[in-house]
Amino acid sequence: MSLQEETAAARVLAERARYVARGVSTPRLVVARAFGARIEDVDGRSFIDFAGGIGCQNLGHGNPAAVAAIHEQVDLYLHQCFMVGTYEPYIEVCRLLAELSPCGKGEQRSLLLNSGAEAIENAVKIARTATGRPAVITFDNGYHGRTLLTMTMTSKVVPYKKGFGPFAPEVYRAPSPYPYRGVGSDEAIHGLEEVFKTGVDPESVACVVLEPVQGEGGFIPMPADYPARLQELCRKHGILYVDDEVQSGCARTGPVWAIEHYEGVEPDLLVSGKSIGGGMPLTAVTGRAEVMDAVDPGGLGGTFGGNPVACAAAVAVLEEVSAPEFRARAAELGDRMRGRLEALAERTPQIGEVRGLGPMLGVELVTDRDSKTPAPELAKAVVDAAFERGLLLLSCGTYGNVLRTLVPLVVTDEELEQGLGILEESLADAGAGAA
Ligand code: PMP
Repeated sequence: MSLQEETAAARVLAERARYVARGVSTPRLVVARAFGARIEDVDGRSFIDFAGGIGCQNLGHGNPAAVAAIHEQVDLYLHQCFMVGTYEPYIEVCRLLAELSPCGKGEQRSLLLNSGAEAIENAVKIARTATGRPAVITFDNGYHGRTLLTMTMTSKVVPYKKGFGPFAPEVYRAPSPYPYRGVGSDEAIHGLEEVFKTGVDPESVACVVLEPVQGEGGFIPMPADYPARLQELCRKHGILYVDDEVQSGCARTGPVWAIEHYEGVEPDLLVSGKSIGGGMPLTAVTGRAEVMDAVDPGGLGGTFGGNPVACAAAVAVLEEVSAPEFRARAAELGDRMRGRLEALAERTPQIGEVRGLGPMLGVELVTDRDSKTPAPELAKAVVDAAFERGLLLLSCGTYGNVLRTLVPLVVTDEELEQGLGILEESLADAGAGAA
């Protein structure tokens, strides 16, 4: 490419390569502006966004209520540190989280933090203090972050763990349901009971940490009966159930929390993040007062957790996602997307399974349906082809072979149709289709 032909994106990406650490993977998109479910790049190309900044834009880029709240807060005050000066937006977020909490009856309290990983770390600290026990159980295909404890808890080695050991102690892994690959609820419960025999005494376990829909691990929703069965086993042994809703929460699956899809389960701690900040960094741990207050004053906190501007945005977000209309629209989008993707699967032998909850849907790609051999190269080719055609799409999965939809739920019908159309064309570009 000659100098005259060089795009603005290419120039920015060259600067990025010069100044940014190589370990942060490099996307091709260079953002200029974004609104709703669309992003425009620095060369004026418009993209339909099926990625949402990895699930952080469920309410759309530039959500008007969140942006207005941010503007208002910026003019009042910025960082204070909640351990130095109390401010009301923090309390207001905790009040809304209490109202929306799935963690059973009684007073609910929250702690606000900056990242999902930090929130998971704090949930584990709280569970350890509340139970007086050290061990943590995590699950196959689980993802919980990139800090020492959370990468230890995460089940995918490359790129999250390779070279980063030694890992944190007292983390044990159990099988989790993945019906498409032969693990149902029975096998998963049996597998956990085995861990209690071969790995760790259940009386030493503080908590289990599970995503209701495993996100990075491949958009794997838990079967209908599994969370309640897991909870039963937890209660038998005095283990706390931590519900990691960093990716599946904040209306991603329709209801505010994905765990609401499941009967008979009330997690002990809820971890939320990503979209709750409306584009600002904010995460939370929520639970019943007797669990949350196990930690003495001073034991929890951090300089930036619950930044006032992020809290102001979160108040607007939580009010919007709890409105019945928002949930109904999300459910409608989910039905429409599932219908389209299932129809596509009928014509595409490389689609092994379409799965998910509401509009949090994954498409698992395989070389063929009999062998179910994962097809990560195909997933990558589809993502690349989609980019060329103007759709931002992400893959995920332990095998890197799942396409995922994290489209902002404010997407218009036309944009959704256009995006799904590009997805279909991109599968064809990548060589998938009728044999
Ligand atoms: N838990 C889950 C389920 C996640 O999907 C993520 C992020 N993808 C995290 C925790 C970690 O969040 P963060 O990247 O904000 O630390």
